[in-house]
Amino acid sequence: MRTASDLQVVVRVADLRAAVAAARSTGATVGFVPTMGALHDGHLSLIERARQLCSFVIVSTFVNPLQFGPAEDFQRYPRDPRGDEAKAARGGADLLFSPSVNEMYPADRAVTVAPGPVGDAWEGTVRPGHFAGVLTAVATLFHIVGPDVAVFGQKDFQQATLITAMVRDLRFPVDIVIAPTVRDADGLALSSRNAFLAGADRARATLLIAALRAVEAAFRSGETLVPPLHRVGTEILAQDGAVVLDYLAFVAPGSLTAVTHAEPGTVVLIAARIGATRLIDNIVLTR
Ligand code: AMP
Repeated sequence: MRTASDLQVVVRVADLRAAVAAARSTGATVGFVPTMGALHDGHLSLIERARQLCSFVIVSTFVNPLQFGPAEDFQRYPRDPRGDEAKAARGGADLLFSPSVNEMYPADRAVTVAPGPVGDAWEGTVRPGHFAGVLTAVATLFHIVGPDVAVFGQKDFQQATLITAMVRDLRFPVDIVIAPTVRDADGLALSSRNAFLAGADRARATLLIAALRAVEAAFRSGETLVPPLHRVGTEILAQDGAVVLDYLAFVAPGSLTAVTHAEPGTVVLIAARIGATRLIDNIVLTR
């Protein structure tokens, strides 16, 4: 069994590069799971997937200031460095990379990655600049780590779409793997931000997946027009006035443009606020 003592913990870029070079000199392939820490079983499932595909697995925990707006929760985002070490080791990672902001970015950093139009839709409308921040961090981490494979969660569908596009367009030599969303027993998608949901808000949060599943059931019963499918979802959310819908969107994979007819492969994106906590989820429709 792997123990916490098997896990290398690295905070410096130079040390990370030396560790990767040492692993590669023994013929290892490198799998990479970038996260913002406060690790949960969703993150662990990505580590396990990387473990199946590669012999040396790196998980990063970096709360990236570039992807938070000025009024967002960067300061209060959950941080749990001790717990992250224990979970990364238990999950089967070989190395935990946990750089400071100063280690990641030069003080006079000026260049960012532009996501293009997909970055302005959905989450990008509510969070301007968010995806430029995400892609800049992921591109930086890819250049530091140089992985063969990087694993991301379907939970953040738009993010996974944009990272796939960045790797394709900018020719990063890395295979992107998208792993399914891990959920609590009641269906709520695991998220570090679920820690903010106290009392009744935790139960309210299950309305997101309830709405998505109702839409899926209606689609499987034969409804393909988006307006009635949309109504099925919003009626579920309307059961509780404390859940404020940002969007419920039916989109084509890849372009994430809205569709008027749903078909197998159509992605249903949802974002809602419960008090100060913003939650997102999605499903891909199947017959
Ligand atoms: P985060 O730490 O929230 O930035 O997420 C880091 C990675 O974990 C991203 O690729 C997320 O999509 C993924 N992730 C977050 N929550 C889940 C989940 N419930 N199931 C699977 N992957 C997840």
